[in-house]
Amino acid sequence: MAVKEFKAESKRLLDMMINSIYTQKEIFLRELISNASDAIDKIYYKALTDDNLAFDKDSYFVKVTADKANRTLTITDTGIGMTQEDLENNLGVIAKSGSLAFKKENESKDGHDIIGQFGVGFYSAFMVADVVTVISKPLGGEGAFKWESHGAEGYTIEPFEKDTVGTEVILKIKENTEDESYDEYLEEYRLKAIIKKYSDFIRYPIKMEISSQRVKEGTENEFEAYQEEQTVNSMVPIWRKNKSELTPEDYEKFYMEKHYGFDKPLKHIHISVDGAVRYQAILFIPENIPFDYYSKEFEKGLELYANGVLIMNKCADLLPDFFSFVKGMVDSEDLSLNISREMLQHDRQLKLIAKNIQSKIKSQLQSLLKDEREQYEQFYKSFGRQLKFGVYNEYGRHKDVLQDLLMFYSSKERKLVTLDEYIARMPEDQKFIYYASGETNERIDKLPQTELVADKGYEILYFTDDIDEFAIKMIMSYKEKEFKSVSSGDLGIEEDKDQDQSDSDENDNKELFESMKEILADKVSSVKASKRLRTHPVCFSTDGEVTIEMEKILKAMPN
Ligand code: ADP
Ligand code: MG
Repeated sequence: MAVKEFKAESKRLLDMMINSIYTQKEIFLRELISNASDAIDKIYYKALTDDNLAFDKDSYFVKVTADKANRTLTITDTGIGMTQEDLENNLGVIAKSGSLAFKKENESKDGHDIIGQFGVGFYSAFMVADVVTVISKPLGGEGAFKWESHGAEGYTIEPFEKDTVGTEVILKIKENTEDESYDEYLEEYRLKAIIKKYSDFIRYPIKMEISSQRVKEGTENEFEAYQEEQTVNSMVPIWRKNKSELTPEDYEKFYMEKHYGFDKPLKHIHISVDGAVRYQAILFIPENIPFDYYSKEFEKGLELYANGVLIMNKCADLLPDFFSFVKGMVDSEDLSLNISREMLQHDRQLKLIAKNIQSKIKSQLQSLLKDEREQYEQFYKSFGRQLKFGVYNEYGRHKDVLQDLLMFYSSKERKLVTLDEYIARMPEDQKFIYYASGETNERIDKLPQTELVADKGYEILYFTDDIDEFAIKMIMSYKEKEFKSVSSGDLGIEEDKDQDQSDSDENDNKELFESMKEILADKVSSVKASKRLRTHPVCFSTDGEVTIEMEKILKAMPN
């Protein structure tokens, strides 16, 4: 029988698979199962639209069978099948799947850099197999055919006997090499784990023959081995279920199962959108800071599914940096399985989803703040710093999203308050939102600069985090009230003492101030009589954009 050559581009992809530069070889199973599921989708659709075709739900399934003795792994489906022409066209050409475009974009980079998270299609079978056989019988009465390939040199195709409609993909699993073992792809428990990991939520049952032991009939403690067919996947993903069917424990269990964190989630957000873009998501706000959160190793992102199939573990484009602590997953029927990271970045659907997710997270945090203050404060202790960085970064672009979520310690309330609460309490004559920076609340309490403002009965926000003042400089004003540091020269407070009095203070002490300025030389720009001191003899004040506290921080930064 004549061996047909693969088209040039397919050959290149095939080479790549045979030399398996992908680190996660296990994804081949995800690819084959998703093809099987697609094929069942097609026959399912036909049955729904064609009265002559009965649809019996139980007869649609995928089956995975390992045969250790013969070193084969078989993926069987009851899908629509392929004609001889389909076999030639679909398995001989790769261009349409987009995988090659992905490979090209990455070629310049280190080969190992390629992420095996994308749909790499049917050819991924060659990562673990040196012979791939496809036996398929199409719907519509045509005969079955067998397609077979040993890899790069090409494939053969011939008529074959097969009774039922559907496809069987048989992989001859590679022999172990010195650096690589392939035995695992014949192990029940390993296959089961791979299916659970990537294909748990495929809509059709994925069945396996699982060997078990049972007590032999007629005996008391003699065991015999037997095979039992099991459905490995859970089929209905939690995110497709109705919120009303689910308990908080269900979400917690999902959080654990997915290893999103070792803590318990503080809050979950279950989203189901069916509009311009369709997606479901389950997001979590963790309670504690992950140990690597403020380190370089930390990678933000959500799991991304395309119609129930996991395509990426951490899709960073779905989360803004200021919400990088959020964990969870997104599933959308509008995404293609074969989408590369580069393509995703420009995907309009994904951008819409990301935008939508951002606003959902914000409103969840707002309602937490409103209804469950204690929980919010717990959250804020862990991640408030990230929100403040979010305000500061990108020149304050996101301040409108974030400013309502900020909290600062209040001189009056002696606890964390929001800007909204501060504004609501302001006396009518107060023009500014006052703040004081320092290392700790206790230290700020003792600052001489706070005296006049406190004497007026005005509330002061305490900034004890490095980022606080920088973030506030980005916000500038909140509800039309500007922020003002208690150490700035002009506090905007009407003086009780009349102008003459301080002018005369100034004149009386002219010589003293001049000699003080001489001694302090370039350390201060002037020495003046102050109107704002009460119990302290002296204080520093600044008039520029950068306050003394900010200067300290800037000086401490590495250049
Ligand atoms: P993609 O799934 O992105 O189209 P693949 O390389 O995974 O790319 O598969 C190529 C094509 O081969 C599929 O589009 C489909 O037409 C066909 N195919 C693969 N596996 C099956 C199957 N089990 N049943 C029917 N058709 C299949
Ligand atoms: Mg596919």
